[in-house]
Amino acid sequence: MDLPALWQVTLGELELTLSKANFTTWFKNTFISSFENGRITVSVPNTFTKAWLEKKYHDAIIKALRSTTNQGVREVHYRVEVKNTTVLPLEALAVEAFHDASSSTFSGVNADESGSARDIGLNPRYHFKNFVVGKNSELAHAACVAVAAKPGEVYNPLFLYGGVGMGKTHLLQAIGHHIAVNQPQAKIRYLTSERFINEFIQSVRGGRMNEFRDAYRTVDVLLVDDIQFLTGKESTQEEFFHTFNTLHQNNKQLVLTADRQPKDIQALESRLLSRFEWGMTADISIPDFETRVAILQTKSREKTYPLSTEILHAVAGAIQSNVRELEGALNKIVAYHQFKNLQPTLLSVQSILQSLIPTLTRHNITPRHLLEIVTTHYDITLDHILCKSRERRFAFPRQVAMYLLREEIKCSFPAIGEHIGGRDHTTAMHACGKISDLLKQDEQLKRDLLMIRERLYSTSRSA
Ligand code: ADP
Ligand code: MG
Repeated sequence: MDLPALWQVTLGELELTLSKANFTTWFKNTFISSFENGRITVSVPNTFTKAWLEKKYHDAIIKALRSTTNQGVREVHYRVEVKNTTVLPLEALAVEAFHDASSSTFSGVNADESGSARDIGLNPRYHFKNFVVGKNSELAHAACVAVAAKPGEVYNPLFLYGGVGMGKTHLLQAIGHHIAVNQPQAKIRYLTSERFINEFIQSVRGGRMNEFRDAYRTVDVLLVDDIQFLTGKESTQEEFFHTFNTLHQNNKQLVLTADRQPKDIQALESRLLSRFEWGMTADISIPDFETRVAILQTKSREKTYPLSTEILHAVAGAIQSNVRELEGALNKIVAYHQFKNLQPTLLSVQSILQSLIPTLTRHNITPRHLLEIVTTHYDITLDHILCKSRERRFAFPRQVAMYLLREEIKCSFPAIGEHIGGRDHTTAMHACGKISDLLKQDEQLKRDLLMIRERLYSTSRSA
């Protein structure tokens, strides 16, 4: 196997274990430049990538290489080298920010950020220092820290995406707070795309377009939340496109968020789409159990209402798919016990949790249990559901499973993707849409679902 082929196959393997955003960000423009005496040199486009591969993906890369070739891979090194383009001088800055981001104390972002909200429209609670970094958010967090340290210089635009309640707004605003403190003269603007649309429409009506343009095209940092709402609004998109270009040309920082990847935002003009892809895209997915516990811990400390580990575990176990809901549950627990003047116990907390969780989880229906019942019904195995095969005899039960996770357990789309072998939330959305469409006419499917549900209820009640 020649070097390009070896790397191609290795990348194919790595791709399976990483989210798309991570994969493209870290492996784009990499190649093997030499393989001698068991020593492989992987060329990477910049020092930030080099640091990240060394720190995060080294083991996975070695493992994938060894499973691809039997020519005895002993060691792997990374070297910054760019094919046909020049290395940006700015990357050193990103590396600095990367080290800040990956150290547990977040050095460099610990400045006193309170009171920095000024009138930028920022929520005073959303800082880097109270954002809990887990595997689900480390890339997004590192990128945000890098951008906050050197606005306009590292990733422009930075595009964050992820499901509802995953912490996108929190990170976006943390960038604003951080810059506000460290560069007090910087003009920062935070707003949702809905607000952009409304102000645009009002300016058009009121003949105040010049003011509107001045307001947005002269900022140093523009933070736009929930860009998915721009879809279909052609003239607003046009205005946004020009705002984007003006700022970008002047090296002003743009950070955007959306509930999905740029390419999945329908009716987004392709020229805008291509702009979004100029910079860096990072996703935030569902936090794992440990991260959920850590988030709860942080939030309960913020409220000066510490809870026992046992209770934190119970809450993190019960609410799995959305940090906002996790926080909501915590607030209810605190409010209830303060109001009644009671000490929280596992029992009292569980009863509050039960009232919050959709009916079926009360019957102990877990995603795993549901998947088992679906696989039994269709006479396939769990591996078939989780694997990548697109064969209809696996793909269809997989879609049914996704639909039921949504309907019966009220899983969020990203959570469903996670349960079904780490798939993207858009896959889950597509599956749920497809099955509910089919249900309008497909009698066999209706009977299947009835049987599966019956099984689900009866087995869970006895569980
Ligand atoms: P999104 O914009 O993705 O819908 P938000 O940023 O509004 O989500 O987050 C919802 C709530 O959850 C906020 O109160 C936020 O502070 C909290 N949150 C989300 N992720 C984290 C995290 N990793 N650490 C601490 N708080 C978090
Ligand atoms: Mg948000």
